[in-house]
Amino acid sequence: MRNAAGLMLASVVAAVVIAGIWFWTSHPRGDLASQAAGAAQAAQLPPAKPGAPRDDIEVTGAIPEKPAVAPQPVKAACANPDALGVSRVVEIDTTGGPGFGFEHFKQLDFLADKEIVLTFDDGPWPANTPAVLKALADECTKAVFFPIGKHVTYHPEILRQVAAAGHTIGGHTWSHANLNSKKITEQQAKDEIEKGYSAVKLALGTAPAPFFRFPELQHGPAAMAYLGTRNVAMFSCDADSFDFKAKDAAQIINTVMTKVDKLGKGIILMHDFQKHTAEALPALLRRLKAGGYKIVQMKAKTPFQTLPEYDEALVKDMKLPATSLRPVNSVVQTVSQ
Ligand SMILES: [Zn+2]
Repeated sequence: MRNAAGLMLASVVAAVVIAGIWFWTSHPRGDLASQAAGAAQAAQLPPAKPGAPRDDIEVTGAIPEKPAVAPQPVKAACANPDALGVSRVVEIDTTGGPGFGFEHFKQLDFLADKEIVLTFDDGPWPANTPAVLKALADECTKAVFFPIGKHVTYHPEILRQVAAAGHTIGGHTWSHANLNSKKITEQQAKDEIEKGYSAVKLALGTAPAPFFRFPELQHGPAAMAYLGTRNVAMFSCDADSFDFKAKDAAQIINTVMTKVDKLGKGIILMHDFQKHTAEALPALLRRLKAGGYKIVQMKAKTPFQTLPEYDEALVKDMKLPATSLRPVNSVVQTVSQ
């Protein structure tokens, strides 16, 4: 029994230390006492007092297989009492391909006054996407990400960080092609859409949300019809940050706040690919909070079903040089016997 109590105590102390480290690294600007209290509260344990007797811990005689504190509940807790947070989560039935964002789709007006949806395109990208994730985590809030398939194959581990943080992940084509261009065939548009989703699935191991944003907001009619048949919701926006043109973070904050203050609500389009956006986000989220805005997270009712032929083709592309995919008789011809 003494061994059992000792092990239990060790696991509890280890859990509190882990929780403390997590809070310290996540919230370096907070004061130590509130972090310690927050960590203990999140761990559902009384605050640890140095030298205090530990006989208040009930030992049932059975040592649990896992430590008393699992990592997930600690992660899920928000240590920032003034965080922007998430005011509500909406689940989208994407049957038939509904459209969102008043710049192009005006049928589905589901946001109440002061409600905002945060969206980020063109990632995942080193430094900038992790900085965006950090800013969102510091405010305990959630967004929708629309990654580019090629970027996903370059940095799958960064997209996995996006997923692990609980954000919604949709698709934004394979190579950021303009699907409204006269040069693109219907087959090429389909390939761009499907391959983009397959890249996300390959990186995450789980299916993305059937949410799609057209590159450059170029809504090609044929591609829209195709997305409808695939039951994919299409996302335009209400407030375009034009962050890719911004000269600095301040300009992005100014553009977004001017637009949302005028509209009173809406879906904001930003790019986690952009350095200035990552720089702007902590202050922008504070401004939204100060302005009384609330964040709505959009999730899908059912996941996107990738097409096996695209999943398989992508796996082959990733592992083999292109020349090795040529059939033997196109490479080796008998010319003399
Ligand atoms: Zn884009």
